[in-house]
Amino acid sequence: MITEYVDRLHRAQAEAAHAGVDALLISPGPDLAYLTGYDAIALERLTCLVLPATGDARLVVPALEEPAALASPVGDLEIDIVGWQETDDPYALTVSLLPAAAATMAVDDRMWAVKALALAQAAPALNLEAAGRVLRELRMRKSAAEVNALRTAGAAIDRVHARMGEWLRPGRTERQVGRDIADAIIAEGHDSVDFVIVASGPNGASPHAELSDRVIEAGEPVVVDIGGSVGGYCSDSTRSYIAGNAAPPDFAAYYPVLCEAQRAQCEAVRPGITAEQVDAVGRQLITAAGFGEQFVHRTGHGIGMETHEEPYIVAGNSLELEPGMAFSIEPGIYLPGRHGARIEDIVVVTDDGAERLNTTSRELTLLGAG
Ligand code: ZN
Ligand code: ZN
Ligand code: ZN
Repeated sequence: MITEYVDRLHRAQAEAAHAGVDALLISPGPDLAYLTGYDAIALERLTCLVLPATGDARLVVPALEEPAALASPVGDLEIDIVGWQETDDPYALTVSLLPAAAATMAVDDRMWAVKALALAQAAPALNLEAAGRVLRELRMRKSAAEVNALRTAGAAIDRVHARMGEWLRPGRTERQVGRDIADAIIAEGHDSVDFVIVASGPNGASPHAELSDRVIEAGEPVVVDIGGSVGGYCSDSTRSYIAGNAAPPDFAAYYPVLCEAQRAQCEAVRPGITAEQVDAVGRQLITAAGFGEQFVHRTGHGIGMETHEEPYIVAGNSLELEPGMAFSIEPGIYLPGRHGARIEDIVVVTDDGAERLNTTSRELTLLGAG
């Protein structure tokens, strides 16, 4: 992994130079973990990687966190650690490490506003930008090791979906089912649970419904969208179930449309197609069947160290897909007051098509009372 971090740091520097950014300032979060393997928790004391477009990287850390930083891969990288004591001004210290001729500095997209503002105040002559435009170029093109990590996460969440019949049945509340799913997300190999959506009946018409105490009734459609993280990489997969032995007729009318649209979109993914073309493939099929107004969101989002990252599969995104890009294909149809359905797989662009990282059945699964 160390050589991979070295390579990422060099590519980040080259990308920064290309973008006219003189230095990247990266605080704890996914960008810092991506570049250095240092997965620190963001706290009020400033920790900040100073990565100039050319020259040596340094890591500003509170003195009490130096041992933790050294124990991370940072200890094996060519990064000098610059500690600061409780009474020092870490912002003045950080900007003192910028290249003398620097005109533009870019902070990571997740940096706390108070820290970004303090850096701006400490270097009033510099332009301040968000670093996302630079780092997205790296992070959205996954290495083989990253694709492997996503594969591991995808297989783990598939094992949870495969066990849904153990927990999802009429008479239980969404929250009860959700708790069992959360336990299984860990039991099947994730380090953490990122989210659990169990949206029954009319709740299924809200794409990001919260778990509720609603009792699931016999014959109701239930949207289950779940994800966790393994080794820093995320899983995210949605299946729609029937808590009974037969689907409501109006649901049975649109579910096959959704299934076909999702399949067509996954099959359309290949190098050179644009993100918006992939979105259009599914939207046209769903619209032709009369449900275009009910497909209320974009087709998908990139995934990696964060559940939602670049590239976004949405109208207006003319980005051409490349091997190594990983994202969700998750069209949905939502009938307010009645029910909804969504089918979501993570796919990775390969040299000549795409690999689906989620492979559980997308056919409607009936989970009868048994
Ligand atoms: Zn979502
Ligand atoms: Zn999802
Ligand atoms: Zn998703």
